Amino acid sequence: MMPLRLHNTWTRQVAPFTSRTPGHVGFYSCGPTVYNYAHIGNLRTYIFADLMRRVLEAEGFDVRHVMNITDVGHLTSDADTGEDKMEKGARQQGRTAWEIAEFYTAAFKQDLQRLEVLEPTIWCRATDHIPQMIETVRQIEARGFTYQTSDGIYFDTSKMPEYGQLARLDLAGQQAGARVAVNDEKRNAQDFALWKFSDPAEQRQMEWESPWGKGFPGWHIECSAMAAEYLGVPFDLHSGGVDHIPVHHTNEIAQTLAATGHLLADWWVHGEFLVLKDRRMGKSEGNFLTLQSLIDAGYSPMAYRYLTYSAHYRSHLTFTEEGMDGASSAMRNLHGQFAALPIDAGAIADDAALARFGDALRDDLNAPKALAVVWETIRDASLSPEIRRATVLRMDAVLPMGLAHVVPEEAPAGPPAEVEALLDRRREARASKNWAASDAIRGEIVALGWDVRDTAQGQVVSPVGR
Ligand code: AMP
Ligand code: ZN
Repeated sequence: MMPLRLHNTWTRQVAPFTSRTPGHVGFYSCGPTVYNYAHIGNLRTYIFADLMRRVLEAEGFDVRHVMNITDVGHLTSDADTGEDKMEKGARQQGRTAWEIAEFYTAAFKQDLQRLEVLEPTIWCRATDHIPQMIETVRQIEARGFTYQTSDGIYFDTSKMPEYGQLARLDLAGQQAGARVAVNDEKRNAQDFALWKFSDPAEQRQMEWESPWGKGFPGWHIECSAMAAEYLGVPFDLHSGGVDHIPVHHTNEIAQTLAATGHLLADWWVHGEFLVLKDRRMGKSEGNFLTLQSLIDAGYSPMAYRYLTYSAHYRSHLTFTEEGMDGASSAMRNLHGQFAALPIDAGAIADDAALARFGDALRDDLNAPKALAVVWETIRDASLSPEIRRATVLRMDAVLPMGLAHVVPEEAPAGPPAEVEALLDRRREARASKNWAASDAIRGEIVALGWDVRDTAQGQVVSPVGR
């Protein structure tokens, strides 16, 4: 059996996965910014994180999975300028920032449920952890990595030689290219806000007192603070979409390294983007599809999850209507074949098929290959239908395809034991050519609601009227 191997963005290599404490994995996934619905691109990234968790659990790890909810501080530009997405969303929607946070958090959780994404072990909201964030900023400050401008406390990336390693950032090139500075007071183009001051000209809905003045946390600090709170630093595994590599995760790493001297996590895994034919899908770009819009178009949510298995998580997946239709009919076909397999509670899954399936997933979560093994298995005539059913059901627990909710086809119900006994007696009567007894017994059978016909193969019964 192959060991679990994963691609680590930090080392740029696929290597056997190990955790700090044998049998346990601390796993942090960057969660959504809740100023709007998640789009199906975002959901691809959460399906990927869920698959990661399920595979780790199938490998016997006890996974402590933490996901944050960003409900403050994520500005419309990753360069720490522009408005807070939450405050902007609230203004546009005529609700408070707190109301939209609650509304879109609930909508997000519902989407996850419809996609059979397991709930993380711990949900944590940024606004519930302001003191921890302030404390982390103080540690970074105490170690000399910060400076103050008129609008906040910034991280001085030039003080950290390791800055940008995750993304292999070409700092010199970027510095030269960043002549059009968006914020004159920043010392270096990559410097980012740890704490932003409230603008005295406008009343913010979300703001807190701090040692530096009233304001709100920068976007990245929440993940450094909450990951440390719930997993300790360093922890094992950190996930997100590829867009997080150059900015958000790079800055999480810098903050934690400054505050604690440790690399935040050992393993960094990133899901590639879902793209529309020739443009990227983005919440802020305003061109996006929600899971609900797919449901409204007649697709089952799990058909979308099934579609995501058609590409490896480190490859782009281009979303098209034809692709969605293809996934939808393939999944329906799979469900149909599964429904026809008879249930036998005692049937034991086939080890060889499970091993091939597991090897595919242990190979850096090769979902397309694992899905191919599911199809081979459900069609494998060398296995009994009962064993095929038991085997693919085990696969569904790791690579959800909605099989656990498929209603089995009703087996045609045979006659009750009473009728069976009468049929036996009638067969004997006919064998001894006792036609009168045979007819009398038939009367009794009909009285119990069953018809009997005599064919070359013997007596055939069916419910009266059918
Ligand atoms: P956000 O709510 O913008 O913070 O994004 C939530 C998650 O979705 C992050 O992990 C992003 O990296 C990821 N993401 C954003 N756009 C896409 C996309 N088009 N395809 C896949 N993942 C995405
Ligand atoms: Zn994060």
